Amino acid sequence: MRVLLVEDDDLIAHGIQTGLRALGLTVDCATTAARAETMLSAAHCDVVILDLGLPDEDGMSLLQRLRASGMALPVLVLTARDAVEDRVAGLRAGADDYLLKPFDLSELVARLHALLRRAAGRSMDIIEHGPLRLDSERGEAFLHGRAVILSRRELALLAALLHARGRILSVDQLKDSLYGFSEEIESNALNVHIHHLRRKLGTDIIETVRGVGYRCGMVIA
Ligand code: CA
Repeated sequence: MRVLLVEDDDLIAHGIQTGLRALGLTVDCATTAARAETMLSAAHCDVVILDLGLPDEDGMSLLQRLRASGMALPVLVLTARDAVEDRVAGLRAGADDYLLKPFDLSELVARLHALLRRAAGRSMDIIEHGPLRLDSERGEAFLHGRAVILSRRELALLAALLHARGRILSVDQLKDSLYGFSEEIESNALNVHIHHLRRKLGTDIIETVRGVGYRCGMVIA
């Protein structure tokens, strides 16, 4: 899951980024509304966490503009304002949910997953694929009921492939789901992660579609 965090408070942004990354999520951070808009148009993302008090523009007006331009991504609003009117206004402006500061990271994670489930029309965040079971909320994978230790990149890669449900994902789409803007991508990195997943879950878990990309295949291991 790739998250765009729009938050100008360094301390809060760092805390959220660290916590979400530890769970295998890819997090990009924008500290202004303008930067957030640029990043949204430049790369794929699954969910937006939006602080309302931004230095260059009110988060609410950014959200209204994004919705007016057709952006359909789920948005979770963070707000320090406790007034009921603000919450109602936030939801009217197109937020899917909101969280009052201060909040627990676990609460934030649960809300994010709930938003994604709703967006995907799924009732559970657990994907089963043959003998493979992925709990992306907990960041755990099981093969034939036994836990398999995966790195956060491997988890993110596996989640992207499983969520695609057999659709082919291009190398760029996979890299988008794995890496944030600020992260260096080594040209061979994706191959390395795919190699590791195949070693841990069986060579057929990821099928190479020559010249096009990858999709999840049958799990036999
Ligand atoms: Ca702020």
